[in-house]
Amino acid sequence: MKLHNTIFRFHNPIFRFDYLILQQDITYLKGVGPERAKLLGKELQIKTVGNLLWNLPTRHIDRSKIVKICDLPSMVADTTLFGGGNDERSSVFVQLYGQIVSFSNEGTGRRNPMKAVFSDGTGFVELVWFRGFKYVTRTYKVRTPFLLLGRLSVFNGHYSFAHPELDEVKDGRIEVHMGLRPHYALSETLQKRGITSKVMSGLVANALSLLENNPPVEVLPDYVVRREQFMTKMEAFRAVHFPKDAGDLTRGQQRLKYEEFFYLQLNTLQEAALRNQHKDGFVFSKVGSLFNDFYNRFLPFSLTEAQKKVLRQIRQDLGSGIQMNRLLQGDVGSGKTIVALFTLLLALDNGFQACIMAPTEILAEQHYATFSSLLAQLPVEVALLTGNVKGAARKKILEGVKSGKIDILVGTHALIEPTVAFRNLGLAIIDEQHRFGVKQRAQLWQKNLQPPHILVMTATPIPRTLAMTLYGDLDVSVIDELPPGRKPIETRHFYQEQSAAFIELMHEQLAAHHQIYIVYPLIEHSEKIDLGNAVEGYERFRELFPNYTVELLHGRMNAYQKDDVVQQFVRGEVNILVSTTVIEVGVNVPNATMMAIMEAQRFGLSQLHQLRGRVGRGADKSFCVLVTPNNLSVDAEQRILTMCNYTDGFLIAEEDLRLRGPGNIQSTQQSGIHVPLRVASIMADTPILEKSRNDVKEFLQIDPALSHPNHAAIKHELKRVRDNNLDFSNIS
Ligand code: ADP
Ligand code: MG
Repeated sequence: MKLHNTIFRFHNPIFRFDYLILQQDITYLKGVGPERAKLLGKELQIKTVGNLLWNLPTRHIDRSKIVKICDLPSMVADTTLFGGGNDERSSVFVQLYGQIVSFSNEGTGRRNPMKAVFSDGTGFVELVWFRGFKYVTRTYKVRTPFLLLGRLSVFNGHYSFAHPELDEVKDGRIEVHMGLRPHYALSETLQKRGITSKVMSGLVANALSLLENNPPVEVLPDYVVRREQFMTKMEAFRAVHFPKDAGDLTRGQQRLKYEEFFYLQLNTLQEAALRNQHKDGFVFSKVGSLFNDFYNRFLPFSLTEAQKKVLRQIRQDLGSGIQMNRLLQGDVGSGKTIVALFTLLLALDNGFQACIMAPTEILAEQHYATFSSLLAQLPVEVALLTGNVKGAARKKILEGVKSGKIDILVGTHALIEPTVAFRNLGLAIIDEQHRFGVKQRAQLWQKNLQPPHILVMTATPIPRTLAMTLYGDLDVSVIDELPPGRKPIETRHFYQEQSAAFIELMHEQLAAHHQIYIVYPLIEHSEKIDLGNAVEGYERFRELFPNYTVELLHGRMNAYQKDDVVQQFVRGEVNILVSTTVIEVGVNVPNATMMAIMEAQRFGLSQLHQLRGRVGRGADKSFCVLVTPNNLSVDAEQRILTMCNYTDGFLIAEEDLRLRGPGNIQSTQQSGIHVPLRVASIMADTPILEKSRNDVKEFLQIDPALSHPNHAAIKHELKRVRDNNLDFSNIS
């Protein structure tokens, strides 16, 4: 039993129970059992009592008011929901308190439903059931007090309720059924197997009463709880599931939101705090001959003002004597690569090695090609290391890196493997950050006794608030200007059946000697089918465009095959490249002026934006075409509309967050950004986010290692949060 170890680690006996209970297997909770536990685990990832409590209701149904039957006519008159007054449907939920007087019809089926008369002493209404007769007769006794909740129907002047919810009121204790009632998001499978919102709320109530005797230990610093007058965690759980009123609900949410943000940031900021204890950085004091030669002799264009500004910020960091940890944001195509190159040269000018790490082989290869050609005339040794570099070639590179013969190492994840040892690594650049976690960055820091300067570049622009949360420990630079001469990309939406217009647009582009990308989605779990789509599409386009070269690119091809196709496209030998999403990041072919995304409804916003960024890189007008089937979900339609209306990546990112709402893990995966939030919303709760961030910083200044005995609970909770996040990253 793991849990026992946990107890021993704490000398303070107060810790015991809450961890035992919150982390207790849900199977043993009253009302669950092995079968339900399995269901809850599978459908809602609820495995522990704590998971159950964090599974918050999506809304509450107001049961605070009881209506008298004699007042129903005025309610009906009051509301416009009844249309002409005798419409039998309504969405008015009312609550009555009374008894079943008698069953007026036994019922045999849908045509002949079961009926009862219900009264509260001020009038009569009819109850109707179309099925479940046995259950009704067994459960609902006449002349017994019930609280009734149902949708009111008016039919020929009769008031009736079909399938009302009836709660027996025992000993006149009506208040237990009143107030705001939680409603949970439940899959069809769960509902079919009898796990309704009512059942869920029963389980939650059982969990809460379990906690009542052993209240959870406080996992927020005492002074914060006092200052904010927060509820205890147990009170907060009670309030968010079973609020007394709207204010109670808000107060419970505030506490939990704060806690979520606190741990999210404690997680990112702790690493930085520990590092800051010995934060000396290498001083890159001079701008040397490599930097200057390149700038004066080989730079193929002049830098934009935004690129210059960012380079100044980077130079300032590098010269300050404190280790740089900077996030460079810039929309796709804003020219981050050249900024990276200058930064690499600064490291070399000061006698250090440098490396740049990319998320895919294709991108790493492209960086390698770009740097090698730009630096061809300068005395700089550049090498490429990916998982595909093996045997003697690999050995040679590893030796070169170790001896210092290699100045710049370009590569993929392969760079952070322990076998890669540098002579003196002074700078590490990470491209397309959102695919790397804090952990991987930390592995780079360890590549040198004194940690190298770190520059992180992200192509997915993210709002400042999100940047603060995800990369809380980084300073942020933004390239907020595109290189001159770019024509805006025109984005069009075609339904599948409008293929004639689509084909015509393709012909126009090809006639102008431009190239085209056609991208098919790739969804995990059904790679075969998706690949099938791309292959089919490839064959179709070959038939449609017999005079042009069409090639296929997909993830199942080996690195050489992929590279071969990409290089042919780069050289302009391929006119139409049909691909799965392997081309998502980084490929730079300015002559490509059309990006067609098939089944566009299956992509997330940031992915669509990334893909679109592959075109519009040259001087010619470019098109992005989104092809979808006819019937789109509301969400998908919103995304397509957003793409057609906006080109600015920051606006799109904000829209993306807004559409997603808090903690939607499913769709956050699409963007590669994972924010495990359940109550808090990055967009809506910015003030809480900022407050908790300041608190975390202050807290870490006092005890960065969380080693003070008073902070044992916080340390333990952080570990738990981290362990859980590991689970999440396995999903994505
Ligand atoms: P990203 O920020 O998406 O990585 P890149 O660095 O790949 O963008 O740059 C996109 C394209 O713009 C490249 O072809 C690059 O050579 C070009 N570019 C970058 N900076 C400038 C500039 N200042 N003037 C003109 N073209 C530029
Ligand atoms: Mg790039």
